[in-house]
Amino acid sequence: SWTYDEAPESTDHIQIKKQYELYIDGEFTKPVKNNYFDTINPSNGKKIASIAEASSEDVDKAVKAARKAFKGWAALTGKERGKYIFRIARLIQERAREFAVIESLDGGKPIRESRDIDIPLAANHFFYYAGWADKLEYAFPNRNPKPLGVVGQIIPWNFPLLMAAWKLAPALATGNTVVLKPAETTSLTALKLAEIIHESGIPKGVVNIVTGAGETGASIVNNPDVNKIAFTGSTGVGKYIQKATAGTNKKLTLELGGKGANIIFEDAAIDQAVEGIVNAIFFNQGHVCCAGSRLFVQESVADLVIEKLKRRMETLIVGDPLDKNTDIGAINSKKQLQTIENYIKIGINEGGEIYQPTCEFPKQGNWCAPTLFLNVSQSHRIVQEEIFGPVLAVQTFRTIDEVIEKANNTPYGLSAGVWTEKGSKIFHLTQKLNAGVVWGNTFNKFDATSPFGGYKESGFGREGGLHGLKPYVKFE
Ligand code: NAD
Repeated sequence: SWTYDEAPESTDHIQIKKQYELYIDGEFTKPVKNNYFDTINPSNGKKIASIAEASSEDVDKAVKAARKAFKGWAALTGKERGKYIFRIARLIQERAREFAVIESLDGGKPIRESRDIDIPLAANHFFYYAGWADKLEYAFPNRNPKPLGVVGQIIPWNFPLLMAAWKLAPALATGNTVVLKPAETTSLTALKLAEIIHESGIPKGVVNIVTGAGETGASIVNNPDVNKIAFTGSTGVGKYIQKATAGTNKKLTLELGGKGANIIFEDAAIDQAVEGIVNAIFFNQGHVCCAGSRLFVQESVADLVIEKLKRRMETLIVGDPLDKNTDIGAINSKKQLQTIENYIKIGINEGGEIYQPTCEFPKQGNWCAPTLFLNVSQSHRIVQEEIFGPVLAVQTFRTIDEVIEKANNTPYGLSAGVWTEKGSKIFHLTQKLNAGVVWGNTFNKFDATSPFGGYKESGFGREGGLHGLKPYVKFE
């Protein structure tokens, strides 16, 4: 175990190869067209490794391998399948430190977060669903659940290993075989996971991991032999996938964007709420689908909360993701940094009042200061659109009905937080807010046992808990 005041995490002992291949049919295989792309360290702009780019031929090979493996995998007893999933969980735990360092190097998130949140939650997810594998008849009493077949899974770059775990664990527990594609800027922990999956001895072809960008994803979506697509990513790509799968027999679940409301009432424990605001929007540089990116403060405490929030923001350390003192790491890619900077300009042009503490950034890499916008209203783009960065839009409210209406006034419906000392107010708001998850006096808390997912343009389907099994079974 480490303490936060030790020196920055060393990478000396971490083995990263120069080149990574596709994982198809139990083998690490070169891509048919021999194309590779670079994965870049967002904190210094340097190349980390070359990653194989899967063409539609490679995806086809992966789908065929998954199809071939399906019958045998589905025919195993739940207990047998659970043993493999349990083994994967154990191996993640054993290599947790290595996973955490690679996640921070490749994706830019602070090591404190990958070490304490991403990697343990990923292991827990496999443990949790390993436990369900032989209890499916209790999950769906008298319904005889059957696996769907070959599942295509496409994930984003903000929680690379964790999103892979959210996808793989329930699909495998229910007897499906999988072709999974990580996001192009963060392939490394998924490929490390492929090594572990291989080591677990799981039958070949049950899990295939193909790397590449949107085109590779589209090849999975359009492959006629895939029975289901599970997608986590932007609402734009989600809509494309919905159209592409319409009229086919493919089942679909979508976990998309968000614009979470964080609501602070005058009777909240204010210091605790300020910490909650910081965690809600600056955790993982704000690259969080359920981030609390809209803050609603009751008017009577607004000045106090905003003053305390500004002082707290001055203490946040932006910098090296491998430094254990870092609060805000590197923005995941140059492209994402441009998107965020563009929204900051839009916010200013729309008349918002910006506040950013002075930050000293490292010379290289992608950085963004924690940012507040005051004087914004419901129609402003930075209040309506997902920025996916450390940018918070602040509004005030007087009554509970007013804040319910404002909080629900976006195309999204993924998350919300409520801060008050009155439990009855929290329960009232959980009924009134159109959000898949509503946190009371906390934010950004995840657990394998709890379902997660959205309403409206945040998608449909649930991951986690008993609910997370359902999208991977059919009933006869
Ligand atoms: P993205 O939509 O750009 O990419 C997501 C994945 O889709 C990547 O693997 C990408 O390569 C792939 N892809 C891109 N174009 C594709 C296409 N045409 N066909 C098939 N696949 C394609 O999203 P992103 O920028 O990687 O991730 C950020 C988004 O993800 C945000 O909107 C965020 O809110 C959302 N997200 C949602 C959840 C959730 O659970 N609701 C969780 C994490 C992230």
